[in-house]
Amino acid sequence: MLYADVILPLPLHDTFTYAVPQNMEDNIKRGCRVVVPFGTKKIYTAIVARVHDQRPDFPEIKSINELLDTTPIVTEKQLQLWKWIASYYICTIGEIYKAALPGGLKPKDENAIREKNKRRRNLFAQDDTFLNNEKCVSSLSEAQQKAFDEIEESFKSHNTTLLHGVTSSGKTEIYINLIKKYIDEGKQVLYMLPEIALTTQITERLEKVFSDCMGVYHSKFTDAQRVAVYQKQISNEPFKLILGVRSSIFLPYTNLGLIIVDEEHESSYKQQEPAPRYHARNTALVLANMYGAKTLLGTATPSFEVYHAARKGKYGYVELNQRYKNVKLPDIHVVDIKELRRKKLMKGAFSPVLIDAINEALTNKKQVILFQNRRGFSNFIECKNCGWVPRCEHCDVSLTYHKKNNQLTCHYCGNTYTLPECCPACGEKNFINKGLGTEKVEDQIKEIFPEATTLRMDLDTTRSRTSYENIINDFAEHKADILIGTQMVTKGLDFDNVSIVGILDADTMLNQPDFRSYERSFHTLSQVAGRAGRKDQQGQVFLQTRNADSDIIKQIVENDYWNMFYNQMMERKDFHYPPFYRLINVYLKHKDNQLIGHLADDMAALLRKSFGDRILGPDCPPVARIQSMYIRKIMIKIEITASTEKVRNALTAIQSQMLQQPVAHGLNIYYDVDPM
Ligand SMILES: [Zn+2]
Ligand SMILES: [Zn+2]
Repeated sequence: MLYADVILPLPLHDTFTYAVPQNMEDNIKRGCRVVVPFGTKKIYTAIVARVHDQRPDFPEIKSINELLDTTPIVTEKQLQLWKWIASYYICTIGEIYKAALPGGLKPKDENAIREKNKRRRNLFAQDDTFLNNEKCVSSLSEAQQKAFDEIEESFKSHNTTLLHGVTSSGKTEIYINLIKKYIDEGKQVLYMLPEIALTTQITERLEKVFSDCMGVYHSKFTDAQRVAVYQKQISNEPFKLILGVRSSIFLPYTNLGLIIVDEEHESSYKQQEPAPRYHARNTALVLANMYGAKTLLGTATPSFEVYHAARKGKYGYVELNQRYKNVKLPDIHVVDIKELRRKKLMKGAFSPVLIDAINEALTNKKQVILFQNRRGFSNFIECKNCGWVPRCEHCDVSLTYHKKNNQLTCHYCGNTYTLPECCPACGEKNFINKGLGTEKVEDQIKEIFPEATTLRMDLDTTRSRTSYENIINDFAEHKADILIGTQMVTKGLDFDNVSIVGILDADTMLNQPDFRSYERSFHTLSQVAGRAGRKDQQGQVFLQTRNADSDIIKQIVENDYWNMFYNQMMERKDFHYPPFYRLINVYLKHKDNQLIGHLADDMAALLRKSFGDRILGPDCPPVARIQSMYIRKIMIKIEITASTEKVRNALTAIQSQMLQQPVAHGLNIYYDVDPM
């Protein structure tokens, strides 16, 4: 009799053992999918982790219902990677399985499987009709060629190399040439981009060169499309190039030679919710190592972790500080809005100098990008009479006002509320809007420049992939004069006709209570400034701030990465932050507000027994209740040299001890390792 230990798509640490019916014995293998009963009624698609003949020590053993694959659908290397992620990020293998496979590969009932298979075949048929574009690997410039040669040289001694190239230095051309080289050598390449930067622009550009051997893996694609890419990767003729977002590290590969992580500094490479809370860039390094592949990390503004590693010689380092075709870096004008506000010279969010610049751009048929990193109309509304602020019933946050629908929305749980007629606290009908969202910016633009046409790009206007791309295409075709947006407008979009970029309020980013806020502001503001100016014209950037004299603003204006890095690193060293220390956030969640306080105190006390003064908290996180669950956070700062295995074992032991108490019923404990 054979038995199979299987991984279920549930947050379980352990595998479950099932009996293998005789008719499956010849075909069942590690990595195959099986349909299994679970509990009294449920049926799941599980992954076989081990086949063996040791009968487990419990009376009733359920049998596998169905074997879905005769060859493994999850490869040995994938299972190894899952194991590493579960161990490093302290989560369960079941959570990784859930995240790693497209939904269509883990349906719950058999009919759904058949239906999906049918659709998948249709999709494959479409996939075969690839575009037959001319092959065009472009004219590297002298500077690009030099960087290309240096990367090759660096790869001889380093598995990982950082390509530090200013915005618009033409990193993509270098990538294309590298990809081509590896494919010609018979290797596979994974080219990773942050979700929002993976647009038709870049896809079309790569398709022109690699049409017949490239697959795109994007979370906004339909499940059937993702299943098709996945299936192709385990077929005999896998794609040689995968262009994908962070989840593409979960695809099967056979012969990976190179991974490119573009915009490596992007915090969206880290998954926040739900588990696995993995960092795709860091996981990519592990993946590359498994295949003996090289990794190129590209960015204009390196993350501290990567730059630090490059400076210490752990990673290779290649610099490209010449903009492609020698386009000048934009001229950044700092506008002190503190003074202008005092003198009442501001028109809404706009300084006179920015208004003049926009006017001039519009007269010259040029385009403008306005950046405001908050969506909605106002951050919150307030009763002018008594100060009442509407808040979410389920979360500890004030509600954001969206004027278009005349609605109040919770940006944490998504619940919407109608705006009350009058203040429920005092009965007055006098609400004021506080704060500046992209919707309000658009309103003000329509007042100040009634003749200008506008587009808005934020989470509210880009719910579907097509809407996002339509905005980009319309703006590129000059169907609008002014593009207003959140950080979405910063992601490597190239518009030829943009002469002015306005950063309406740099302070909201700088004032975030987070040790990374300066680093992040530098990334974002440099990126947004880099959108101005192309080809023949130097772009003009107007940066509005109340902190015009601060060092960080000066560093952004002068594009002085080094000094920003140096100053911030001194602070991080003093206060035990990454990259000098590793952070792990422990979260506790419970429905009961009083109980969660006690439980968090208990857990912190237990943690202190093992970790001493490396433990901070427990604290209430900035939003301490989400979807009716109360949250507490305990932070652990660990020496970079400490064994991750020992730390994990200590944490999971304390977790078990906590959860064994009857009083802890309903308590949820989870971890965020290397939080962003
Ligand atoms: Zn009131
Ligand atoms: Zn809410």
